[in-house]
Formats: sequence, C-alpha cells, structure tokens
Amino acid sequence: MPTIATAAILHQRGGPFGIETVTLADPGPGQVLVKVHACGICFTDIGVQNYEQGTPLPHVLGHEGAGVVLATGPGVTRVAAGDRVVLSYASCGSCPRCSAAAPQYCASFMALNYSGLLPDGSVPMAGADGPVYGGFFGQSAFASHALAYERNTVKVDGDEPFSTLAPLGCGMQTGAGTVWNSLAPRAGQSLAVSGTGSVGLAALMAAVASGCGPVIAIDRNPERLALAASLGATHTILADGRDLSAAIRAIVPDGIDFLVDTTGVGPVIRAGLEALTARGQLAMLAVTPPGTEITINPNVLLGGRHLRGAVEGDADPQAFIPLMLARHRAGQFPHDRLVTTYRLAQINEAIAAMRQGSAIKPVLLMD
Ligand SMILES: [Zn+2]
Ligand SMILES: [Zn+2]
Repeated sequence: MPTIATAAILHQRGGPFGIETVTLADPGPGQVLVKVHACGICFTDIGVQNYEQGTPLPHVLGHEGAGVVLATGPGVTRVAAGDRVVLSYASCGSCPRCSAAAPQYCASFMALNYSGLLPDGSVPMAGADGPVYGGFFGQSAFASHALAYERNTVKVDGDEPFSTLAPLGCGMQTGAGTVWNSLAPRAGQSLAVSGTGSVGLAALMAAVASGCGPVIAIDRNPERLALAASLGATHTILADGRDLSAAIRAIVPDGIDFLVDTTGVGPVIRAGLEALTARGQLAMLAVTPPGTEITINPNVLLGGRHLRGAVEGDADPQAFIPLMLARHRAGQFPHDRLVTTYRLAQINEAIAAMRQGSAIKPVLLMD
C-alpha cells in the first residue's frame, strides 16, 4: 500500500521549501521504507537549492536522515522492520570503485544521488500537482518517510536521540572521515582546519581524537574559534585579512603537516598550500559554485606537497557510521554539541540560520 508522507518540496531554484503531502511507492527489490525521525541540513542541500547540479524540480532534498525501518523490499537482509537506522549516500555496489571498497567514488554516484529518479528511471513520488523527484542521496529525507536502499541504510544500536544520529550520515562522516581515512595523521602531527562549520569542526574533533598537535582552527567568526578551542583546538587564527600562511607558520615554523579546507575560497586554499610542510597534504572538501576557479603557485607542489579532494570522507558508511558512534560514546567525538534542532515546518528558518552562521548543524525533527 503506498505511503502518504509529509515532505519539504523545493519547487523553484533559489526559492523556499514548502511543506506538502506526497505519496511514496512500496519498497521494491533492495529498497527500505524508513519512518524518518530527524534529518540534518548540509550545505549540499543548500547548494542544490540554489544551483541546478543535475537535480530536476520539484524535488525533495535531505540526505542526513535517521529513523526506524517500517518495511523492506524483496532481497533485503541487512535491516528489518523496527531497526533504528542512519541513512547515508547511495552507491551501486558493482562498479570497479564500489568493488574496490571505494563506494564514495561510485561510477553511478550522480545518477543514484542527484538525478531525482529511481534506478529504473521512474519518478519516486507523487504530489498534489503531479510527479515529485526524489531519491536524493538515495533517501530524500526532508520528509516523514523515505525510500532508501539496503546499501545506504546503516543499522545502529543504542538509544541516542535521532538528532544525534542524523548528521553522521554525511557532514560528520565527511569531516571525520577525511582525517581518519583520507589523511590518517599520526599522533603528534600538526593539522589545521580552515572553515569551522560542521564539516570543519568534525575534522577538528577527529584530529584531536587522533592525538594531533598543534591543531589549528581558522575562521572569520570569533565565536566559532572559541567553540573550536573548547573542542580541543590548540590554536586559533582569525581570518581577518591577515596573511594566513604566515599565521600558520608562526605556530609551526616548518609548516603544517595537514590542512583540511572547507571554505572553497581560493586565497585561503592558496595560503594553506603555502603553509604546508614538505610532503604535507591539503584536502579540499567544499563543493564550490559553478565557475569557481582558484590559482596556486605550482612550485609549492614541488616539495612533495599534495592538493587533493575527498568525497564523504573516503568512508564506507556501513563501517564508518558505527565507528563514529563508538567514538562519540567514548567521549572522543562530541558532535552533538554542534546540533540545533528545528521542526520540519521550520526548514526555511533553519537554512537561514545555517547560512547566517547562528546554527552550525541544524537538524529537522519530523514528529
Ligand atoms: Zn558503484
Ligand atoms: Zn552532505
């Protein structure tokens, strides 16, 4: 029997979300119907709200869902009705990179996460005025119910609030995974984070948990820097137009071992690259608006330095979400300190707070 759900629908690029009723089909083979209890808002949602990126409208976004499994389609064995789950990004499971344990670089990533369609080409939802695109990141969780896949549905134990679980599906995974998986610093190595939003602060918490030092936070916002210090940053740099490379080298004269950039701002990345020690690595995580270009001094790379990107923290969610949760419980990853909750109907207010900087990780509650 089809499911009637309440969802936040984006009708117009750059416009607000409207709360409306949609109908979801029953879960097909490999699919999982989830009663969503909470969904975080990530800057990727805001990016798609404002830039096309291959996503047709009207569309239900939301890709940090957490809730309880209601029903499963044929062939699903990993989760069952009643399981508490976190939803993450979708991947095919059979392409060369999925087969090489790198599902974040799945050959079908765009089709499965951005196209608005199910793999069979059908439109997953119907609204009052016709078809509504969905399946965003294999979930579309700005809604009371979501159709996900067995592969991107991660069963969790314990009784943490869904508002604590939801952000593990993308933002926290992206920040923490970049440190724990992509860069893998040893204890005592230095790491800086430019941009202390939720992804940057997740990276910072992961670096602190890894025993890095110095751990440097860089941001334009003094309040964020104070929060970063309370989360374990040993040094903070206010980005007020000063020479960031010189400011980093004033702390680590030989240069920094690792820098995680979440700003996507050209001069910040250029300065970060120039602050790297020989063989240091800079990971860029921001999705930048179309047309963005950055310039670097290429001679900097001759020191064996690496400028690289990473998606979803190079993490396989089935393993990484339980790992983050375990470290959260051990007090090493207090990401719940970044969360501010809103009702689903307050989605536009929550996005405004995130853009303005007063909310770091807004999480929508569905009931
Ligand atoms: Zn794949
Ligand atoms: Zn995201």
